[in-house]
Amino acid sequence: MDPVTDPVDVAVVGGGVAGLYLAWSLRTRRAAVPGAAGAPSVVVLESDGRTGGRLHTVRPPGAPHLRAEIGGMRYLDSQRLVVALIAALGLAHRDFTMLDDHDLHLLRGSRFTVADLRAGAAVPYDLAPAERGHTPQELMGTVVRALVPDIATIDAAARRARERDLVFGGRPVRDVAMVEVARQVLSPEGFEYVMDGLGYTVGRDPEVGAVNVLHTDYSVGRPRTLTDGMQALPDALAAAAAEAGAEIRRGVRALAVDHGPDGLLRVATDGADPVVARHVVLALPRAALAALDLSTGPLAGSTLAADLDAVLAVPAAKLYLGFPEPWWERLGIMTGKSVTDLPMRQCLYFGVEDEAAGGEAGNRSALLAATYTDDRATGYWQALRDAGGPAWPAADPALPAPTGMVADARRQLAELHGVDVPEPGWAAFRDWTEPPFGGGWHYWRTGHLSVDVMPRVRRPAPGVNVAVCGEAFSAHQGWILGALSSAERVLQDQLAQPPPAWAPPGAEVDP
Ligand SMILES: Cc1cc2nc3c(=O)[nH]c(=O)nc-3n(C[C@H](O)[C@H](O)[C@H](O)COP(=O)(O)OP(=O)(O)OC[C@H]3O[C@@H](n4cnc5c(N)ncnc54)[C@H](O)[C@@H]3O)c2cc1C
Repeated sequence: MDPVTDPVDVAVVGGGVAGLYLAWSLRTRRAAVPGAAGAPSVVVLESDGRTGGRLHTVRPPGAPHLRAEIGGMRYLDSQRLVVALIAALGLAHRDFTMLDDHDLHLLRGSRFTVADLRAGAAVPYDLAPAERGHTPQELMGTVVRALVPDIATIDAAARRARERDLVFGGRPVRDVAMVEVARQVLSPEGFEYVMDGLGYTVGRDPEVGAVNVLHTDYSVGRPRTLTDGMQALPDALAAAAAEAGAEIRRGVRALAVDHGPDGLLRVATDGADPVVARHVVLALPRAALAALDLSTGPLAGSTLAADLDAVLAVPAAKLYLGFPEPWWERLGIMTGKSVTDLPMRQCLYFGVEDEAAGGEAGNRSALLAATYTDDRATGYWQALRDAGGPAWPAADPALPAPTGMVADARRQLAELHGVDVPEPGWAAFRDWTEPPFGGGWHYWRTGHLSVDVMPRVRRPAPGVNVAVCGEAFSAHQGWILGALSSAERVLQDQLAQPPPAWAPPGAEVDP
């Protein structure tokens, strides 16, 4: 294709799940996009050699039944668009267990199980009488209900409709930080218990807006995962899009969107041919959008640069360790996750339940998401990474973990479980804060409303055929659903595609 004489109808920047869903949808729905005739031609530019972005599954050496989910690891059976897409692509799934009675908490040096908590065991926090006997999750529920009493019974549209009118302590919810609500509802020790016991640190950040409560589904769908690993979803989309005629260029980084010839757009790239297109869709997280040159071309003077500050990218990292057998089963732990206030914060157990994915009888090798951290706790692991040293045998050469980091993780695991932890056979570390991602997922920042920002970001310059989609500025941040529901809105509104025939009524589309 000559880039100038043969403009492409749609250039998609970003080969994560949002960009690949767009490409597959355009080539299979086949409605003409504005300004063109016939089924749209599509080029996807992906800066990495691998498509899939924040869905990244590693198959550890010698363990064909295991999948190490370096990025997203589960979806909910209540997420209609995701469930229907997975069915349409014919991908196998299974349940994903989040809590097991034997899973541990090690908080302030005290070790207790989920079962102990449910039985009302005392915790090492001086809780208010009404807080005693509750799990951190249950206490967080009281915080959420203080803001939106009927949260569990209203749907996503109803939740969003409250954004403008909801007040807390006489102030509009837009201006209230989540941490303020938690501190007002909980006792000081109750607050510490919830922050420590949930395993996530970001709740302490005053930049996380209370408005994020309205974007969380508390109707408690059941978690599922893909039998072949979550990357099977973008992989299937990429294969089906290519089969249907989309061109996917891996290892090509977009630098800027400029004016092209004859009123077209031109995507400048890092060393590869530019792409001339009728429409450009930027399917990128916040940091990758900020890295584009927005100072010239059709987006110069648009609201996009300013609107990037409406979301916060949350630092997040994972360290996986692989063992010849699941030593935690000796403690009665089969699956789920343990939580601690040590810098490792969360540890998730995966093992022989994955046999359906290709396990051989007798292969007992198992893996641990040995640390799963967000926000401040991530800095601890970044320092261990930066300290360097020889790498531990890696599950994937692109995801090395220094020996010092693995030793530190083993020490913390031993403290959490109260047993000696054997030497792992391999390790894999990824810090999603590194470019181009800037963080694992996003939250709406205190001072901003999603209902105002989302439509502006999706169409940053009126009259210009540039669209933005992806998880970062979606109505379902932190989820694959956000990537898909924002892409779906762009497909229907800006690219004139019909709704998907395979999706059920009520499937999520961003407002
Ligand atoms: C640790 C972690 C845990 C998570 N857990 C879950 C979970 O359990 N369930 C869930 O549903 N979601 C989870 N998520 C979120 C989920 O992974 C994301 O919402 C989703 O994958 C985002 O897809 P996206 O297409 O919007 O963005 P991305 O996946 O970030 O895709 C953007 C793509 O653009 C590429 N790119 C960047 N800059 C350029 C450029 N200049 N030119 C060309 N290409 C570029 C990137 O390489 C990337 O491939 C998790 C994420 C992380 C990191």
